Amino acid sequence: MADIPDDPIEYNAYIEEMRKTQYPMLGQKTYLDHAGTTLYSKALMDRFHADMMGNLFGNPHSASQSSQHSTQLVEDVRLRLLQFFGAASEQYDLVFTANATAAIKLVAEAFREQEGGFWYGYHADSHTSLVGVRQLAREHRCFESDAEVNRWIEPSEEDSSTMVKLFAYPAQSNMNGRRLPMQWTTALRQSGEKRTYTLLDAASYVSTSPLDLRHIESSPDFVTVSLYKIFGFPDLGALLVRKDAADIFSKRSYFGGGTVDLVVTLKEQWHARKAGAVHEQLEDGTLPIHSILALKAAMHIHSELFGSMERVARHTAMLARQLHEGLSAMRHGNGKQVSTIYRSPDSSHGPVLAFNLRNSRDEWISNTEVEKLASVKQIQFRTGGLCNPGGVATSLGLAPWEMKENFSAGQRCGTENDIMNGKPTGMIRVSLGAMSTVSDVTRFLSFVSEFFIDPLVSTSRADSPMQNLCPVVSSRLRIESLTVYPVKSCAGWQIPYGAQWEVRREGLAWDREWCIVHQGTGAALSQKKHPRMALIRPHLDFKAGRLHIRRVGSAEQISVPLSLDPSYFACEKLREGSTNVCGDTVQARLYTCDAIATFLTNAVGVPCTLARFPSSHDATSIGRHSKSHLMPSNRQPGIPHPILLSNESPILTINRSSLNRLNEQIKAKGGKAAHPAVFRANIVLAESSHLAPGQERPWAEDEWECMQVGGPDGPKFEFLGGCRRCQMLCVDQESSEKSEEPFVTLAKTRRFGGRILFGVHTALADRRSVGGWPTICVGDAVETQRKEIIENQ
Ligand SMILES: *Cc1c(COP(=O)(O)O)cnc(C)c1O
Repeated sequence: MADIPDDPIEYNAYIEEMRKTQYPMLGQKTYLDHAGTTLYSKALMDRFHADMMGNLFGNPHSASQSSQHSTQLVEDVRLRLLQFFGAASEQYDLVFTANATAAIKLVAEAFREQEGGFWYGYHADSHTSLVGVRQLAREHRCFESDAEVNRWIEPSEEDSSTMVKLFAYPAQSNMNGRRLPMQWTTALRQSGEKRTYTLLDAASYVSTSPLDLRHIESSPDFVTVSLYKIFGFPDLGALLVRKDAADIFSKRSYFGGGTVDLVVTLKEQWHARKAGAVHEQLEDGTLPIHSILALKAAMHIHSELFGSMERVARHTAMLARQLHEGLSAMRHGNGKQVSTIYRSPDSSHGPVLAFNLRNSRDEWISNTEVEKLASVKQIQFRTGGLCNPGGVATSLGLAPWEMKENFSAGQRCGTENDIMNGKPTGMIRVSLGAMSTVSDVTRFLSFVSEFFIDPLVSTSRADSPMQNLCPVVSSRLRIESLTVYPVKSCAGWQIPYGAQWEVRREGLAWDREWCIVHQGTGAALSQKKHPRMALIRPHLDFKAGRLHIRRVGSAEQISVPLSLDPSYFACEKLREGSTNVCGDTVQARLYTCDAIATFLTNAVGVPCTLARFPSSHDATSIGRHSKSHLMPSNRQPGIPHPILLSNESPILTINRSSLNRLNEQIKAKGGKAAHPAVFRANIVLAESSHLAPGQERPWAEDEWECMQVGGPDGPKFEFLGGCRRCQMLCVDQESSEKSEEPFVTLAKTRRFGGRILFGVHTALADRRSVGGWPTICVGDAVETQRKEIIENQ
């Protein structure tokens, strides 16, 4: 290992170079979620591998040599970890746990068993895992501010309670990195005989800062940490316990293998708990011995790669300063601030930044939108409630009633609707770690400025796609192509030229009739998470009466009958089951045939199978591709009328001229033109005459209200609004590879009120099927109507 430079700029350059070999999984990614979990280095993996292969470690509960070897290792690592946190082994003991939450629970459960229960106080900036302790307390109080804690600590506040007290707070907020006063533990230790125990949650703090528990007079009684947030691996946590506070665990009633010396069970019920060190009383069962081995390697490699925690703290503080300065300096063209950063001017902060973005009209930008755009730029951070309910509510000014109201209105952690009643319900968190560098900060800042700064704001710009309209020129439109997606989120199937295709209320016949569902959760899979679904090619074979499914790059195929008759094909034993499509539960039938499940599981790469959705339609339906005669009426009563699986709208229409315009813009920047297939449209409309460049009417669809297809007697369709786009557009439908385009260009040219629009949702205007559903055909003339005026085409 080369010498680690001390100068900040050289240190940054060193990390930049080092991480190319040590963190290959970073690749081109900008990873800014270190407060969630950090990364493990190649050196650590190599060393762990060598340690595992070079030694025999047995279960520590016996006298064999391998077992003694393990016992020795555990005690050795325990001591080193105590030293890592600056704790003397005479004063502190360390208990290995699964994570920080498990460490918190150990403390909470010990307090619950105290006679008369316990009083629990916690700061509003606490992590969810600390808040949950209140459920075990007899009385509890949430301190909403530092001042409130300070007042309570003052001995003047009268207190007649005899209950044992526990006060908990984070050393650093996992939400915005704010550091809370360490003096509170000092003050509470000195508060006399009825003293309050203190629990310091250091999980976020220790990931980038050294912890120093040397000053025993001022140190907390319990400290909880997540080790994977420091080292990336192994997945372990720890509880540090002051030895003179350890009596709190003596009332613990549970014992397990490892925490008991002798147990009598048959005629008499008696046991002798281990009375030695705290960890002997608390570590139930077999210790995660191989993880502890990895921890030893992790501590060693961490100091080899990064120097010391002091060095990490200095480096990340420098990056955080650059990030904060860069983001707070950003302004829109009209001078308005781009970000609202949640930081307290009176506190110091760790390398974590929480904020929301606003547009030039001061409206909040949805975090889901920010995340979608970041994902095409390969930037990763966290958004939402951040597991910090009090901190988020305080920063966003959300009252409890508002949070409950939002909850009943369907808002959940991780849902799309993150702006409710004009207020954000969550925030964006960017957190830096030891292997973050100046280039990560720069890339993040240019991402924000590229997509979210409005440089020149014209006052007339309203929140509507109408703004981009071209002058009205009469032109003729026709249907250029028709496509159905028999299996949701898989490749489309082109409707042959000349085929009269039936259109129903719920969309084109055979569109999204099937879907692929996860075998465990029953949720319908989508290309957004599983780009390989683009390579699954369904083919409707009406001659054979079957749907064939092929997979690019494989000669294998499966096929199922178009008919739903369960007795017709022995292979398809249909099972009734519920399938979750974008949050709504829909009744679907799963194919239980192993060959189908195996084929799709191999194709997608997760355990899945095919499901079919019952269609509702009237039995008198006619038409060349009518499926009514094939399908028994099998809809369950009480299920709301479906748009079936095309869960946005029945039909999606795109305008070829708009696609051409978009592709000109992409090509002008040197990008690769988008194939129409990525938009997954059902109907592609094209201007029929050969128009000279400049005569096309891109984005005319923004003001269409309805269209009539195939002459005055043909079916009428209404347009329901623009189609909101996501990064799924970036999946190449031939190779399933992801790129930035066309999403990035669309995001810059077609973003209206936070929605990136391309194509229009379409539905049959006449929703009755008198004498059967109407049909349409490739080549049909199309007349669009715009507002009240019918254009003469
Ligand atoms: C991450 C975190 C936790 C929870 O840690 P786990 O290891 O996931 O249990 C608790 N508190 C804070 C401050 C954290 O940052």
